[in-house]
Amino acid sequence: MTGRLSIVGLGPGAAELITPLASETLAAATDLVGYGPYLARVAERSGQHRHASDNREELVRAKQALDLAASGRSVAVVSSGDPGVFAMASAVFEAIETGKPGWCDIEVTVVPGISAMLAAAARIGAPLGHDFCAISLSDNLKPWDVVLKRLEAAAAGDFIIVLYNPASKARPWQLGDALRLIARHRASSTPVIFAHAVSRPDERIDITTLADADPAQADMRTLIIIGSSATKLVACGKGKSFVYTPRHAELVAP
Ligand code: SAH
Repeated sequence: MTGRLSIVGLGPGAAELITPLASETLAAATDLVGYGPYLARVAERSGQHRHASDNREELVRAKQALDLAASGRSVAVVSSGDPGVFAMASAVFEAIETGKPGWCDIEVTVVPGISAMLAAAARIGAPLGHDFCAISLSDNLKPWDVVLKRLEAAAAGDFIIVLYNPASKARPWQLGDALRLIARHRASSTPVIFAHAVSRPDERIDITTLADADPAQADMRTLIIIGSSATKLVACGKGKSFVYTPRHAELVAP
């Protein structure tokens, strides 16, 4: 008997940001597969099996989940944020495409989650109100030159730029290079948001500018939003401020 496989987004961290469908899917699974800290966010249910693995082994984990599903289990693979955004859903589909023929018969569903960029944007206003792009700064899975090429194009195209995976202990210098590249295309007063651990107890949101952005403030749990030429930081009195990008756009001279 062939089982089923769901790839479930857990959102950015807070329990109330998990969708009802995600909760239902997790509760119905016989087996949970995923990175240990993400599995720890899911309530324990007796009789349910947990298969924790290292964060770097995405394809191995996907194959393990597909083998379990092929043997008749009802498997949920967990992912932070949305499973389709720099996460496990692609690894599962890649494993199906290149793996065992029987895996095509498994019923696979993707259960969306609130991606970190949406949760971060909601905290400070509406910075993603116009055309934006999301770029992962991690060069574990792609050459750094590809990252630079995409950053250059996004900066020249005046997109709002969201940076996932901006820094880690193993990648300390990339963010500084990325910000300097973007600064060649944008005003030094462009709003920049450092959103750390959004919706977690240690959440910290810093609004700064391209001139003052300090790469050392970012780590693996930080997401960065760099405004376009239209993005505004508005002070609303009494220390209150918000960042938004208007719904209309004008042609900006290159
Ligand atoms: N699938 C996830 C992204 C995984 S990539 C999603 O849709 O959100 C991992 C990166 O996501 C981190 O390096 C960080 O840049 C960002 N991230 C994930 N959760 C976050 C949170 N709660 N606060 C800030 N950034 C977060």
